Formats: sequence, structure tokens, C-alpha cells
Amino acid sequence: MATSLDITVYRPASHSALAEQDLIAAHAVIAEIDRMMSLYRPDSELVLLNAKAGQGPVSVSAPIFEVLQAANSFARRSGGAFDVTVTPLVELWGFYRNDRVVVPSQDAIEEARRRVGMDRLTIDAAARAVALARETAIDLGAIAKGYAVDRAIAELKVRDVPAALVDLGGNIGVLGARPDGNPWKIGLQDPRKNGLIGSVSFNAGAVATSGDYDRYFEHDGQRYSHIIDPRTGWPVSGVAATTVIAPTAMAADALSTAGFVLGPEAGLALIASIPGAAGLVVGTDGRVAVQGTGGVTFELR
Ligand code: AMP
Ligand code: MG
Repeated sequence: MATSLDITVYRPASHSALAEQDLIAAHAVIAEIDRMMSLYRPDSELVLLNAKAGQGPVSVSAPIFEVLQAANSFARRSGGAFDVTVTPLVELWGFYRNDRVVVPSQDAIEEARRRVGMDRLTIDAAARAVALARETAIDLGAIAKGYAVDRAIAELKVRDVPAALVDLGGNIGVLGARPDGNPWKIGLQDPRKNGLIGSVSFNAGAVATSGDYDRYFEHDGQRYSHIIDPRTGWPVSGVAATTVIAPTAMAADALSTAGFVLGPEAGLALIASIPGAAGLVVGTDGRVAVQGTGGVTFELR
């Protein structure tokens, strides 16, 4: 998944050998999902599925199916701001190889946009199959990390781990209560300089952050980030970061990307419509807009 992974397991000191096995098991779960859902592995299930675009229904594994169904639901709820068929646009803007130095032509953007849209993905729940229209490809980069975190947390739970935290590239899930009795507390990275803009505390669930600061290119003093508005075909401008707290890491991941595309008003309205979700949007002007929910406390500097 081309990102960092940190797993923390809390066990009594006398159980440290068990904790080591927990770490190995959680890591294995995430590695397995990476092998299924990565676009960077020529033999991942997702790459093989994309290669069959235009060839009718393809039966898929339960994990891919579950993530595509969730992606479909977030696409609908976000009015198309979240769209896993955005692949041709991400490719055109050079974000798979980080190789673009100038803005593409509007013609090329329109051409790529014709191959994007959730109507190009058909899901058959009874057959656990999906069909992609010709020249359509799926990118799960905005949701699969969250799914992987949920699966790792579930694995730790089955292993009777009392408390744990899994952080996959800023997609964080927690299990149980912190042993010191305090709520879980996550620092919110300042999108423009080293340091934090604040923190968020919560008792259960997950947090995800989407930002314009880890993958982008600059041209003529303008920053073009890796999150693209499928409705225009252009990288989102005006938003520097979004953070979402939600009951599952998959929801937090999808909602942070959707909120990034929608911006403070519509983004926070979407978050408010999801039970148990909260979040914030940081504009490129530094302004912070917050949507709270019970059990979640934001502290801003
Ligand atoms: P995240 O870091 O979770 O916000 O995901 C960003 C990644 O999702 C990008 O690097 C693209 O691969 C992909 N992506 C870009 N724009 C969108 C979008 N509007 N909807 C869904 N996925 C997107
Ligand atoms: Mg995301």
C-alpha cells in the first residue's frame, strides 16, 4: 500500500511473547489485503479484475466485494465526490508514478473523465460478481487502507487482545480502552508545517486523515494534489486536509477522502449524516471547520 504501518498491542508484561504473535498475525492480515487490492502488484486480484473490463461479470473474493459495495454506498451518499472509478484521471494527472510536471490539456481531462463514473461498475450481490465497462478501472486507494485496519483490529480481537492501535498511513483503528484509563488521543498534523494543529480524543472506533501534502506536484506556484474531483476531472483545490472519526476505519477512510473533495460545507454535512461520525476540514487558507459528535473531543491550537 506504499505507506507506513504501526501496530501497538497492549498485554500484561508477562505475555510479551503472545503480543509478538499478535503483531505477526495483524501484519499478515494487512499484507494479505495488500496482495488483493494493490494497484502496484501485477498479480493482485484488483489488477486482474481491471484487466477484464468490458468482458462481462467477474466473480470476486469476499473482501473485494465488501469494499466495492461500501465504495458504491459512499459514492451515492457523496453525490459522486467519492468515486473508485477515478483511475483514468489519477493516471492522467501522474499520481501513480509521480511523473507529471505540467497540467494536462482540457481535452485529455475530458477524455479521461468519459471513462469515470460509478455507472460503469455493475455489482451483482447474488453472484458476488462485478462487471466493469470497457476502459474502466478501479482504484481502492481511498478506502482499502481503512478496510485493512478494520480487518487487523478484528484479528486482534479474536486473539483476545485487550487493547491495541493500528496505524496504516494515517488510517487508525483502536481496540478496547487505553490501559491508562485515558481516551485514545491522536495528534492532527499541520498540513503546511512541522507540528500539530491540535488533537482529537475518542473512546472507540477509527480516525483517518486525507491531505494534500504527501502526494502532489507544483506547477506555476499552484499545488495539484492526488485527490481528484471526479465531477470536474481536476485535483481538488482549497482543501489542505480532512480528518474523520467514524465507527469503522473503512468509513473514516472513505469519508475523509469524500470530505476532502466536497470541502468544508458539504463535506461536514455528509459527516453529520453518518451516525457516530465527526470530522474537520482544514482549508488551504488555514481555516478549520469542525463537525462534532458525542464521545469525540477536538482540541485546536
Ligand atoms: P486518501 O489518501 O484515502 O484520501 O485516498 C487518496 C487516493 O484515492 C488517491 O491517491 C487516489 O488513488 C484515489 N482517489 C483520488 N481521488 C479520488 C476520489 N475522488 N474518490 C475516490 N478515490 C480517489
Ligand atoms: Mg480515504
